[in-house]
Amino acid sequence: MNLINIEKTFLNQPKFRSKQAQKLIFSDFISDWEEASVFPLTLRKELNTVFPLAINHELFISKDKRSGKAIITLDDGSKLETALMVHRDGRNTACLSSQVGCPLACKFCVSGKSFRRNLTINEILLQALLWARYLKSAKLGRLSNIVFMGSGEPFLNYENVFSAINYLNNPEYFDISARRISVSTIGITPGIRKMANEDKQINLAISLHFTDDKIRSNMMPGTKKYSLAKLFEAIDYYIDKTNRKVMFEYMMIKGINDSKKDAEKLAFIMKKPLYTVNLIKHNKTGVFEASDTKTMLDFKKILRKQGAEVVERYRFNQDVFGACGQLASK
Ligand code: SAH
Repeated sequence: MNLINIEKTFLNQPKFRSKQAQKLIFSDFISDWEEASVFPLTLRKELNTVFPLAINHELFISKDKRSGKAIITLDDGSKLETALMVHRDGRNTACLSSQVGCPLACKFCVSGKSFRRNLTINEILLQALLWARYLKSAKLGRLSNIVFMGSGEPFLNYENVFSAINYLNNPEYFDISARRISVSTIGITPGIRKMANEDKQINLAISLHFTDDKIRSNMMPGTKKYSLAKLFEAIDYYIDKTNRKVMFEYMMIKGINDSKKDAEKLAFIMKKPLYTVNLIKHNKTGVFEASDTKTMLDFKKILRKQGAEVVERYRFNQDVFGACGQLASK
């Protein structure tokens, strides 16, 4: 199934067919042309051979029914993982991967255990389509939000990620507005600057986690080329250009980055307009332990007292190993 070249499949058909097909795929969310009752039987059969709609995947829905993980097997046998979060306020968020595995090798993240290749535009869109179909069949509404927080570094696959975002925005495809799409990066500064110059209202999230260059580049080897000073320079350029909020993800690991001193330092850095901290409890992936609830609470208090804006992330998908940092791919 090549979602970005639908017209090509319908070249020998009357013009309106490809528009009908687009609606069937992106609005009715059919997963078999047999469901396309507006098409003649012979065409349905032919399409099932030349343009099969099935997505080869396994689904893992968590017990609370509010989140899930899917493993998609791609044409070359690569496996990628993607997650869904059903929020109580009606938002349905798909967490998409941008690469098969991840080359950054952060010590606390499963995605970085291996790296194979960039995902194509089509492979990025497949993940969104899978969740849109699931939401419809489970009667949970439509896919409303996208975060590029699955495996991979979006800014190392910039062109495909941003082309995919155009399809996600397009009213004839997914019709998800830019304001409901977030891209998360470890801080690839050329990517941040490039995104600043896109004429789009996409949200930027930065995986900060550590406020000391030495610890950060040890825990997140992919950041070595980009010191914190360079990172904040790029972020301030972004804010200058876009006047948009930036979300800083701060994952709390017991005994590593959760002391009072860490909180004071983070608060000092975060006391800026349009900076928001998102505190995330570390999800167990190996040797590190999550900070205690009390430690996190105290940490948050210090940040707030110093005037930093803080939100805390709800932990979805714990039971299906599909939470932040737990998405693998082979
Ligand atoms: N490469 C991009 C996109 C991945 S987003 C980036 O790093 O921003 C995935 C988020 O989950 C990142 O913020 C990452 O640092 C975080 N994460 C990784 N391992 C985690 C873990 N074990 N527990 C909680 N968050 C984790």
